[in-house]
Amino acid sequence: MSGRIDTVHVALGARAYDVRIGAGLIQRAGEEIRPLLRRPRVAVITDETVGPLHLDALRAGLGDIAMTALALPAGEATKGWPEFSRAVEWLLSEKVERKDVVVAFGGGVIGDLVGFASAVLRRGVRFVQIPTTLLAQVDSSVGGKTGINSAHGKNLIGALHQPALVLADIEVLGTLAPRDFLAGYGEVVKYGLLGDAAFFDWLEAHGPSAAQGDLAARQHAVTHSVTMKARIVERDETEEGERALLNLGHTFCHALEAATGYSDRLLHGEGVAIGCALAFELSQRLGLCSQEAPSRVRAHLKAMGMKCDLADIPGELPGAERLIALMGQDKKVVDGRLRFILARGIGEAFVADGVDMAVVRTVLEEALAGR
Ligand code: NAD
Repeated sequence: MSGRIDTVHVALGARAYDVRIGAGLIQRAGEEIRPLLRRPRVAVITDETVGPLHLDALRAGLGDIAMTALALPAGEATKGWPEFSRAVEWLLSEKVERKDVVVAFGGGVIGDLVGFASAVLRRGVRFVQIPTTLLAQVDSSVGGKTGINSAHGKNLIGALHQPALVLADIEVLGTLAPRDFLAGYGEVVKYGLLGDAAFFDWLEAHGPSAAQGDLAARQHAVTHSVTMKARIVERDETEEGERALLNLGHTFCHALEAATGYSDRLLHGEGVAIGCALAFELSQRLGLCSQEAPSRVRAHLKAMGMKCDLADIPGELPGAERLIALMGQDKKVVDGRLRFILARGIGEAFVADGVDMAVVRTVLEEALAGR
């Protein structure tokens, strides 16, 4: 099917690019990508789940553009040095040149890894993101943050490298497991919570139909989220200030991901959703917002069938002290002090330094006790 295509321009001067959003974009990938090419060939890196499902469609969509492809194992564990170096060496063996274009075809794991590989390959080649998960479409494919994980923590090795084009084909989300769709929805909700109460209202009304496959609802959710992200990235590409708002829920999330070993026990977007609920709980405890706000956040996550409490994470979790120590590895630590994104209400997030850690500990202890 091909229908409406929305274009969100990310105005970053010499690094500006378009995010195209719509059903059927993979079928017209050749037309979309051709203007970027010096010669008619692209190197595509995907994963072993997306490849068998969608690579033939991409090859057909590229038409007379020659395509070589590498499939890496699916999952977060791929986002480390071994698969990264495999990807870079493969790109070199495929003789990808400075003026060629690399395509990241997959979820956030592939997008982050391939973006980073493109940033360092021959000191930087252009790359196109074709995100295939909801999370990647609404968040990770836009904004240029690329990288891999270290044993010391998530995303600690990387580069800021903007894509040359993003093609978000919402039809490709049709093969996504419901759990992966909902994990991505955690990032969608985040946009409403951080800066757009009317969007949160819309999500309360239309989130369930988006989850059930309604393409018009999916298109609106993706386009609105991408627009919000693009506007923030334009104003603060290098995260000197406002871009940090996009990390709502992430300080808690990264600690929980580390505590669960970046495993299937907790997907990144699930951690974001739980982290947002905790950030609102913390805000309320600090007297910044009403009790109604965290209740409404949790009610919506529950209505969507999403994880929203620590009790929803299977298996053991460490205590509050250990979780706080894990937060200390977060990239958002400044001068050894944790930085939180808090909220004065739904759609009213702000960056907070010097948060009273005793209150953080209480919120975590109570959340853990609720398990
Ligand atoms: P993912 O890439 O692991 O994809 C989730 C699963 O869905 C994988 O098993 C994948 O094979 C499968 N999949 C992907 N597309 C599919 C499709 N169309 N049909 C069926 N299965 C499909 O994970 P993700 O949730 O997309 O991304 C998470 C990663 O993104 C994390 O590493 C996180 O750190 C990163 N991230 C980066 C940014 C950024 O700004 N760069 C922002 C948010 C998250």
